[in-house]
Amino acid sequence: MKIAIIGAGVAGSIMARGLAQVPGIEVHCLERIAPGEHAEAGTGLNIGPNAVQALQATDPDLARSVSEVSFPWSGWRASTMGGRELFDIKLKSIAPVDGWRLRWSELYRVLRDAAGDRIRYGCSIDAITDKTDGTGRLDIAFTEAGSAKTLTDVDLLIAADGRFSQVRSRFRGPVNARQVGVAIFRLIAPNTTGGLIDDYEQWFNGPNRLLGYRVPDDSIYMSGTFPIPVGSEIPEEMKTREALRRSFTPADGKLSAQGEWLVDLVTDESVELHWARLQESPLCLREDGANVLYLGDSSNGMVPTLGQGATQAMESACAALAIIRDLAEAGQYDPALWLEAIVRARHDRLRFVMDFSLEASDTLLAGSDPVAGSLKKLEAPFQRKLSLLYNDFAVPGGVLESA
Ligand SMILES: Cc1cc2nc3c(=O)[nH]c(=O)nc-3n(C[C@H](O)[C@H](O)[C@H](O)COP(=O)(O)OP(=O)(O)OC[C@H]3O[C@@H](n4cnc5c(N)ncnc54)[C@H](O)[C@@H]3O)c2cc1C
Repeated sequence: MKIAIIGAGVAGSIMARGLAQVPGIEVHCLERIAPGEHAEAGTGLNIGPNAVQALQATDPDLARSVSEVSFPWSGWRASTMGGRELFDIKLKSIAPVDGWRLRWSELYRVLRDAAGDRIRYGCSIDAITDKTDGTGRLDIAFTEAGSAKTLTDVDLLIAADGRFSQVRSRFRGPVNARQVGVAIFRLIAPNTTGGLIDDYEQWFNGPNRLLGYRVPDDSIYMSGTFPIPVGSEIPEEMKTREALRRSFTPADGKLSAQGEWLVDLVTDESVELHWARLQESPLCLREDGANVLYLGDSSNGMVPTLGQGATQAMESACAALAIIRDLAEAGQYDPALWLEAIVRARHDRLRFVMDFSLEASDTLLAGSDPVAGSLKKLEAPFQRKLSLLYNDFAVPGGVLESA
């Protein structure tokens, strides 16, 4: 059984390592970046307790390695930029374990190292061809270190190549992402707060919101959002440092001590801001007629409001791995069966997480009232969904029931 994975990010690396341990599977993970390039990837991430539980159940050694480069994510506190606390939710009151907060580059490093030589770096995909013999198999032509190569008769292709998936475009054309009307920037900077900021917190000035937390080795990850017209690019005049200071300073000019530190950081010209827009891609888990499985952002690009992008990539990879392992152990090596079982296990769960992430973005939209919206997050319906989010990730058949 030959499996090709395209992309060694969160989902792809976990799958490459896990599948290599299943008897009878030959796995090739093709990644476009060079080895070690992840040192520059991204900023900070918080990973939800649901992914922590899923990884602990599926690959405990890997979960330990991720823990070693993380701080616990224990709480979710929200307040106004002036310092009025709106809520302070403790994750352990909802889930049996904390989440993780860590540098994105460290997560990639740990996951990729754990997958070892299953990952082939510096690969670009040239063509993906269906065999048209009714088997759903594919041939993959690629270039590795300047040499043209082909993987023939691939039984299953796993597209783990992220939000702008080349595989998905190949089969379905460009992804038609839905814009939410919110700009987001993020940065990472040395921690000079003197203890003002540690675990996950959010600060609102109207719908304009900053978010920050400390990550190893003592840096502060921060992101900021503000509404923009739906579908438009981020207006350049809203990105200037003066505009950002105005966006996050209350009308009375009074910032809390945390607020002052944050606004000074955001408006520091030497700090590099990475800009994006909140958007969501249509959910898609597989192809019909070709053995292609989409995992992570290639399947379910979602808004980052609940910190579930990498979390779901991890959860989906764990679920897919557990299903394949179980079926292989029972002697079932039919990719069509695997695909069916994975889609059955993941579709409704992913739909729920995507919808809930959008719902939780209410306080970021133009005209929203963050005080009323935040207080609503303490009420039973939201709390019930939060509990489902952090705990209801089990796969039919009980493969993750030990979590
Ligand atoms: C501003 C922002 C903040 C976020 N914050 C959080 C957070 O706090 N918590 C959270 O859980 N998630 C967060 N996310 C989302 C999270 O980062 C992604 O959801 C997650 O990385 C998706 O994992 P993945 O495995 O699907 O893809 P990725 O991790 O994106 O990996 C894709 C891999 O595929 C490779 N690749 C791409 N194209 C090709 C190709 N053609 N050929 C070969 N290789 C290719 C890439 O180099 C990469 O290694 C955030 C995202 C953004 C933008």
